Amino acid sequence: MNRIHDIYRPVDERKADYNEVERRLEPAVIREQVSRCMNCGQAFCHGFGCPLGNLVPDQNRAVAQGNDKLAYELLSLNSDFPEFTARICPAICESCCVHQLDEESVMVRQSEKHIIETAFANGWVVPRPPAAENGKRVAVIGAGPAGLSAAVTLRRRGYAVTVYEREQNIGGLLRYGIPCFKLNKAIIDRRRKILEAEGIRFVTGVEIGTDITADYLARSNDAVVVAIGTPAARDLKIPGRDLKGIHLALELLGTQNKLLTGEVPGVTSRRGADQSAVTEPRREVTPGTLPNARGKRVLVIGGGDTGSDCVGTSIRQGAISVTQIEIMPQPPETRSPSTPWPMWPYELRTSSSHKEGCTRRWDLNSIQFLGKDGHVTGVEVETVQWEMTPEGRPLDFAPVPGTKEVIEADLVLLAMGFTGVPTDHPIVQQLALAQTPRTALVSDPARNVFCVGDCANGASLVVRAIASGKTVPLA
Ligand SMILES: Cc1cc2nc3c(=O)[nH]c(=O)nc-3n(C[C@H](O)[C@H](O)[C@H](O)COP(=O)(O)OP(=O)(O)OC[C@H]3O[C@@H](n4cnc5c(N)ncnc54)[C@H](O)[C@@H]3O)c2cc1C
Repeated sequence: MNRIHDIYRPVDERKADYNEVERRLEPAVIREQVSRCMNCGQAFCHGFGCPLGNLVPDQNRAVAQGNDKLAYELLSLNSDFPEFTARICPAICESCCVHQLDEESVMVRQSEKHIIETAFANGWVVPRPPAAENGKRVAVIGAGPAGLSAAVTLRRRGYAVTVYEREQNIGGLLRYGIPCFKLNKAIIDRRRKILEAEGIRFVTGVEIGTDITADYLARSNDAVVVAIGTPAARDLKIPGRDLKGIHLALELLGTQNKLLTGEVPGVTSRRGADQSAVTEPRREVTPGTLPNARGKRVLVIGGGDTGSDCVGTSIRQGAISVTQIEIMPQPPETRSPSTPWPMWPYELRTSSSHKEGCTRRWDLNSIQFLGKDGHVTGVEVETVQWEMTPEGRPLDFAPVPGTKEVIEADLVLLAMGFTGVPTDHPIVQQLALAQTPRTALVSDPARNVFCVGDCANGASLVVRAIASGKTVPLA
């Protein structure tokens, strides 16, 4: 039996709405799929792949035997938010599955979704408040996956935990970055109710460093956890950047999510997903200022996952065409020799959004934005030639003379990653935090100040942020 690939709703159906693109697989199909697991003596999925150390082979066996309750109990030993990772994790565990050596990996992520959604449906997911209070208080700054993970971990140890969040709702990039068609925001609301029932307090719409100082939080708590993510997106400061119609990716993605949940008023062009109960208005965004791809030729600069989310969002908003360009070369179709098993493979990734209709190009450097009457009309690009390592990894590039061309666009989205935390960030100043050369934040255990997630480790993955949040060394 082979791994199945038909896990998405049909393209024409899914691109007409913002509901999750993946369909739920029948329990019988999941059981059959996880029965492919060989229960390896050296379980790379568990010990090498999963940052949470999920007991993947044991969970698989329980599911294959029809014991979903046991599977949930095993999963919840290590994973506090499997409903998030089951939807959006790139599944590092699958890339180091021993089956990858000869055929295709076991379907671990879909199995995780089956386990956690079965658990919710059966009422097995219940609040787990601490057995006793320890009389100590912790302030967590930032309600992204790292902050939520730190909060739940410390609450279970008996701390009184308050999470401060500058946005109107919790979730961080789960809510304001990752599109609803990958993660329905009602999934976050469902978890919030459980966290609150465990005794975690959320204070939203409050920016620490501005509305309340971070040093005040340090003075009035026994410990502070900083989980503020990577606030600064990488910009593209080439001529013409001031033209209208050029936006950072999160301006499009964040506002589209806020529109769908009702956090900003406005009418979406397509049928929205039911995103449940998020209704509070956000201050500074108005419908007239929102970037929107409807009727436009969209150019996404940046070939990674954020760029792919821009592709899917632009298609749903009604773009005429979507092109995604990348300065790096096109990765190989299969695992590059530079990343042998069990490493995370350097290879071409094609997302569900790409399959909804976009042109992808590589080896293109952006030279300048072109415009008319103050609005962008295109980008001048130039082909580059990459020098590769003997193993096939890109090393350095040079422009190819005579290859300049213009890609026409009415909306340009910059999806080129994130830089670290600015050194003049108020929280850095107020807590006198040290930073690495790449401006990641460094914990100061002597003062009970702990930094977790992307702000401490650089922009990464939800599963790594959750794992990082669990590491706060408070007994
Ligand atoms: C568009 C996009 C798509 C992605 N897709 C995926 C994916 O599919 N799978 C995956 O694994 N990873 C994905 N990632 C990466 C993933 O979202 C991040 O690695 C993860 O969210 C980091 O978690 P975090 O808690 O460290 O930071 P964040 O999620 O950034 O959360 C930080 C929180 O701190 C709050 N905050 C910041 N400053 C303050 C302040 N001064 N006061 C109060 N609150 C503050 C922010 O508002 C935010 O809520 C994606 C990232 C982006 C941008």
